[in-house]
Amino acid sequence: VKNEFDVVIVGGGASGLFAAIPLIRSGYSVAIVEKGRWRESSPYDNDELYTYVDQREWPDPAREFSVVDFGDASSLTTHRMGQSYGYVGGGTITYAGVSERFRLADFVKRTSHGDIDDANTADWPVGFYDELEPYYAIAEGLLGVSGDSSLDPTAPPRSNKLFPPLAYHEINLQMISAAKSLGWNPYPVPLAISSVYNPATHRTWCVSSGLCSGYRCIWNSKGSADTIFRSQVEGAANYKIFTNHVALKIETCFEGASVSAVRILNRQTRAVSTLAARRVLLAAGGVLSPSLLLRSKDRFHPDGLSNGNDLVGRNLMFHIEGQKGAYFKGDFAREKFNNVKKVMVADHYFGNDRSSSNHVTIQAGTKTGPIRFAIKKQGWGLDYLRDMYANYMNHYEFQVMVEDLPRECNRVTLDETRLDVDGLACSKITHRYHPMDGLALIDAFDLADRWIRQMNGTAVTNPEAALLQWKSAGCRTPPPWIPVGFHLMGTLRMGTDPLTSVIDRDCQSHSVKGLFVVDSSVFPTSAGVNPTLTLQANALRVADKIIQSDGKR
Ligand SMILES: Cc1cc2nc3c(=O)[nH]c(=O)nc-3n(C[C@H](O)[C@H](O)[C@H](O)COP(=O)(O)OP(=O)(O)OC[C@H]3O[C@@H](n4cnc5c(N)ncnc54)[C@H](O)[C@@H]3O)c2cc1C
Repeated sequence: VKNEFDVVIVGGGASGLFAAIPLIRSGYSVAIVEKGRWRESSPYDNDELYTYVDQREWPDPAREFSVVDFGDASSLTTHRMGQSYGYVGGGTITYAGVSERFRLADFVKRTSHGDIDDANTADWPVGFYDELEPYYAIAEGLLGVSGDSSLDPTAPPRSNKLFPPLAYHEINLQMISAAKSLGWNPYPVPLAISSVYNPATHRTWCVSSGLCSGYRCIWNSKGSADTIFRSQVEGAANYKIFTNHVALKIETCFEGASVSAVRILNRQTRAVSTLAARRVLLAAGGVLSPSLLLRSKDRFHPDGLSNGNDLVGRNLMFHIEGQKGAYFKGDFAREKFNNVKKVMVADHYFGNDRSSSNHVTIQAGTKTGPIRFAIKKQGWGLDYLRDMYANYMNHYEFQVMVEDLPRECNRVTLDETRLDVDGLACSKITHRYHPMDGLALIDAFDLADRWIRQMNGTAVTNPEAALLQWKSAGCRTPPPWIPVGFHLMGTLRMGTDPLTSVIDRDCQSHSVKGLFVVDSSVFPTSAGVNPTLTLQANALRVADKIIQSDGKR
């Protein structure tokens, strides 16, 4: 086998596969190195116990893990956080498909907020939204995003139209009318879930199974990156996906000035080989991409590639996501099962007096699966069963999504004392929330509460006590119920100044030629909405820049 390619992409997930599409279509020879295998549909895909509760298809956290340090001794544990779903398609196989554009204000955070004590906010490069906009439109077309941004007063300008929103359920209509009576502007959550047939990717429309977040969509209505990739490169012979291979190290030439190759390990045979390339695109995610750069130290880069200023791994951001469940009145028993977030508000995106530094949205309408509901509810006997029957269909959840401010002390390093299944030092995640993050979360929960009360709902999960305790402890260590770690951003910051950023505007390293980053590690700020659409649009943009710079377009 001739192991020489124009481009090697590390990571075959959301960003890696999107970057690969234009490169392959422009005739580049492309190698994609992916730890996992292809994940075909299985008979268990819709089985809540097997797929969601036991997470049997996820990589084993005893073999692939990070160490997390949230600030108190008890939180220094091994964790799945930072590790991807680990198949071709990465996180998008099981993701919920929420596909929001960042708002214009997200790109100028430093200018609009000035210095925030103890935070390290930054602007994105000047004019970034205008440059990204056409790629947002292409990404939305591939993903088949359904929605209607004209109803959202905070939406940035767009050059395209989305597919029509998915059909509403009775509960969604109640949500909309309550939000309107509060003076808010509810709008359909933009979802990478087709409401109509999408001819660009041959994907069919949603049958409303409700099995989206946490599940593989067996109907192929969800825009998982693997199915989209296959539809776009069908018949092409100029690429190869090295599945079940892990990238060990990026190698350089010309005294460390340029990339030259990627060393990879075949996880089945344990054979190590080298893929030579003039360009390497990192797409392993916000924790594993910086880890690979730290691991790639050599004579010319003793602290890791592109790490001359000790910035690799810093400014790690999650989103603070919190759920609030409630019971609602209405006859939902005859409705189709429905656990998709379909209605959201961004009216408080720019915050209020107390927490205006963090951007916030509320996404409403998910429903926990029946098995998880039963486990959470607990009880025994006939009363318990009656309660289950009476309440399950009337239970819905509201999710708040709060921006995490960047801080230099929040970072990814390597823990050389703990090796994973591939014999690699595991990633260590150190993270303390900024006190403003905590206030913003508390405010966001207050808003969710107002929305629920306006619908005459009865909140069941009541995080207030835990939140107050958290507030008095300075809002640093996250309360245990906050799921962190699905959205990983910031660890290889993009910027024009090599002293304060790792990569340049085109997402190429300031110091190592041919080294690019296309995942959300590059984000200078995290915004108050989900990141995947933005990272995929940016991956398309970076690939196009490469094609243009070679005069191939
Ligand atoms: C349950 C769930 C719901 C979610 N819902 C949403 C949502 O609604 N909206 C949204 O925007 N986001 C959502 N996300 C997050 C979304 O999945 C991620 O933002 C997205 O997948 C990140 O893309 P990526 O390319 O950076 O990483 P990934 O998609 O994770 O891909 C990285 C790939 O790199 C591979 N890899 C890593 N290291 C190596 C190595 N050294 N060698 C070889 N391969 C390697 C991994 O196996 C993986 O396949 C959700 C995630 C989960 C888990």
